[in-house]
Amino acid sequence: AENIVVIGGGQAGAQAVQSLRLFGYEGGITMVGDETALPYQRPPLSKAYMKGEMAEDRLYFKPAAWYEDNKVETLLSQRVEKIDRSAREVHLEHGGRLAYDALIIATGSRPRALPVEGADLENVFDLRGISDVEHIQPKMIAGTKLVIVGAGYIGLEAAAVARQLGLDVTVLEMADRVLERVTSPVISEFYQELHRGHGVDIRLGARLAKLKGEDGKVTHAVLADGEEIPADMVLAGIGIVPNVELAEAAGLPCRNGIIVDEDARTADPRIFAAGDCTVRPLAHYARTGRLESVHNAIEQGKLAAAAIMGKPRPAIDCPWFWSDQYDIKLQIAGLSQGHDEVVVRGDRAGNKFAAFYLKNGRLIAVDAVNSPPEFIASKKLIMNGAVIAPDQLSDTSKSMKDIAA
Ligand code: FAD
Repeated sequence: AENIVVIGGGQAGAQAVQSLRLFGYEGGITMVGDETALPYQRPPLSKAYMKGEMAEDRLYFKPAAWYEDNKVETLLSQRVEKIDRSAREVHLEHGGRLAYDALIIATGSRPRALPVEGADLENVFDLRGISDVEHIQPKMIAGTKLVIVGAGYIGLEAAAVARQLGLDVTVLEMADRVLERVTSPVISEFYQELHRGHGVDIRLGARLAKLKGEDGKVTHAVLADGEEIPADMVLAGIGIVPNVELAEAAGLPCRNGIIVDEDARTADPRIFAAGDCTVRPLAHYARTGRLESVHNAIEQGKLAAAAIMGKPRPAIDCPWFWSDQYDIKLQIAGLSQGHDEVVVRGDRAGNKFAAFYLKNGRLIAVDAVNSPPEFIASKKLIMNGAVIAPDQLSDTSKSMKDIAA
């Protein structure tokens, strides 16, 4: 009988499994995951779930019964430690091997470790899984001094949650603005003001030199200029590293991610890869790249399942992402890298505006703050490679729907 093995029980692995059954695959499926939990959503871990406003069972994509009913064997708390391509087997950490006819690598990514002395002190955390929140949440108590390292989305979302719970929050960012890697100065400035307005101490151009502790517990974050910031707890959010080691050791080409084609197939026709661990063609951008998003994991999970079954390739959407901080919802469509013009539409002071990114007159991305119509219309325009005049985009007397028509 045929067997498909999925390595990793996260967003991409879970989607691949669901799509295989939805597309009518009737052979065996074994999903191996090294966490204790069944596949769950990560976004709420720095949002509603971290805040205590969402029950744990709502994190799971499917209940345990779904995997039983659909004959998906789940091996949890279990790592794959080797892929043997010639034998078409994976080796499990606790012994045993699984034979595959097709293999899906959905190993995700891990937080980049803080490269400083003291990073191993107690009460220094990063945020990737449910188990991290289990350690962090009991310490989310009003008055606790929290230092967050890195003003990316995860760091800022955690800062918002922590402030709402009454913690004393400092954010250290090496760059001269927040979200520097992912957005433009207009959006960075908006979020800086938003957080400062909520009482977060945002430190820009702040380089962490080390963490200081007492009795094994962190007490201070020490900056390169010698300043010592008191800390009961430190949360690192300085980016991720794709989990490519298994693929690399098996001789699959990797470059900051496992290289896959339009169908999520690696250089080995029986092996697919999906999610944070891949570098993929970016259909609307004529280049390849690694995406760190739910949308990407879902899309590639579906692509892999369809390709394995010889089904037509599912539609490819433009990349999208979101972030919730306080009562502000940011929705992002497209990839803004390489833009040569930014057009702002709407009311910044009223927390409702969008920044459009153009390249050679074409819309390539949007950051929409509390502006769903701008987000939705832009997705379509980006995929069509639409050329739109900047004064049209900024004209709020016309609806986004009309502009996109
Ligand atoms: P993962 O979900 O990380 O799953 C990979 C799984 O494989 C993990 O369980 C890992 O432990 C396991 N694994 C790795 N190696 C092995 C091995 N050798 N053997 C067995 N198992 C293995 N995205 C958005 O679009 N919007 C958001 O608002 C958003 N917020 C986020 C907030 C947080 C706190 C985090 C951490 C992420 C957020 N993301 C968000 C990103 C999104 O969650 C990821 O892009 C997505 O989870 C990627 O899915 P994946 O399946 O590739 O990886």
